[in-house]
Amino acid sequence: CGIVGYTGRSAVAEGRSALGVVLEGLRRLEYRGYDSAGVAVLDGGEIAARKKSGKLANLLGELEAEPLPESLTGIGHTRWATHGGPTDTNAHPHLADSGKLALIHNGIIENFSDIKQELTAQGVEFLSQTDTEVAAALLGRLYRFLADGPMQGEPGAVVLTEAMRRACQRFEGAFTLLAIHADAPEAVVAARRNSPLVVGLGEGENFLGSDVSGFIDHTRRAVELGQDQIVTITPDSMEITDFFGNAAEGKEYHVDWDP
Ligand code: GLU
Repeated sequence: CGIVGYTGRSAVAEGRSALGVVLEGLRRLEYRGYDSAGVAVLDGGEIAARKKSGKLANLLGELEAEPLPESLTGIGHTRWATHGGPTDTNAHPHLADSGKLALIHNGIIENFSDIKQELTAQGVEFLSQTDTEVAAALLGRLYRFLADGPMQGEPGAVVLTEAMRRACQRFEGAFTLLAIHADAPEAVVAARRNSPLVVGLGEGENFLGSDVSGFIDHTRRAVELGQDQIVTITPDSMEITDFFGNAAEGKEYHVDWDP
């Protein structure tokens, strides 16, 4: 029910880390209510993720037992279960593309069972009951298809952005999606339809949140995404398009209230 993304060098320079920023953001979003929580970070060509049902304290316990590496890029999620009970397995992130891609999601992919059937027929196996894992699997397949075929040699962030556009063309319902890929260092790709998504603009760092509370401790420069838009952030850039790749613009504003 809450989403946070971070990419930047500033956090580590200031003795924080992507994980720290993401966890702080999740704590700020706790008021929305949730039943599970999870995080994923990009670690030199690998994705590392932890997730746990229950309160954030449970996830923190898990992170203490099995720490994640220092990272410049991370995503975090608190879940309000709609499809599949509140279990560790159903918690987000969901991984795909042989563990190289991590996806988190707020909302409901209404047509997930059609997509699930198609993917199952192609041999994809599912671990959870969620609509989100189906979205992750489709995104992972599209990424692999593009990276090995028509977009071979293109930077991972460009491929992930295009894969997200194509996946979103298939999805019906309400969704805020955030994805990272092991081959797209320092990038977070996000999409929204019928569900909120805001970018926070920093200096050498950028943020994503389901609302500004997710990053308000760090920046007051916010860009609200419009309906059916995709955004790719790196520490120094933000690029917005629609689901078909046409350049688009969000609505920039200054957050002048205190949480
Ligand atoms: N539909 C997804 C699930 O049940 C996401 C729920 C949410 O918005 O947290 O896992």
